[in-house]
Formats: sequence, structure tokens, C-alpha cells
Amino acid sequence: MDHLCPVCNGLMPYQEACPRCGRPLDDAGRLYDYYGDYSPYLEIDDSKLNNGFPDRLHHHCLHVGWCPACRQEHLSVIEEWSSQALHDQSPPPFTPDAGESPR
Ligand SMILES: [Zn+2]
Ligand SMILES: [Zn+2]
Repeated sequence: MDHLCPVCNGLMPYQEACPRCGRPLDDAGRLYDYYGDYSPYLEIDDSKLNNGFPDRLHHHCLHVGWCPACRQEHLSVIEEWSSQALHDQSPPPFTPDAGESPR
């Protein structure tokens, strides 16, 4: 797997604003979970195409946000991270303080 969604993997909080009122949307989950279907990956890819979003090509993950004020759901496109981006995000290796090393 060379691309993964940072929101699905807990690397980033779901932060989308309602396009109507600007309030933060509640995370209603991934689009596919939302429909209650635990389909194998092949079928998920098919459903992606059926949505009319060519997100498989662009490595986007579709999330559903719920605005409690408008009582309306909104579709958000989360950009998936490549393994290179993941690598860049990881914190640098711990370097012990030079002063602590015994002489
Ligand atoms: Zn996701
Ligand atoms: Zn709203």
C-alpha cells in the first residue's frame, strides 16, 4: 500500500467546515462505511468509480461530514498521503543531549 488516508489512519483529525454556515463538521466516517457496506477492496474501487469521483487516480479518500446546525451532510475529499509524505511526517530520530553522555 503506497497511499493511505491520514484521517482514516488517525494521523490527522477530520477538519472540514460546513460550506453553508462555516461551522466545523462532525466526522460521519468514510463514505463507504457510511453506507454500511464492508465490501472487499475490489468492490470499493468499483463504488468509487460509480460515484463519479475518479479518486482512485488521484488518491483521494471520500469522507462524510455532518453539520449539526444545517442538519445536512457534506462530502469531503481527503488527500491520501504517499509513503514518501508519511516518511516526511514522522518525527526525527531521538538524539540524546550531548551534555548527558558520560566522559
Ligand atoms: Zn479516509
Ligand atoms: Zn452548516
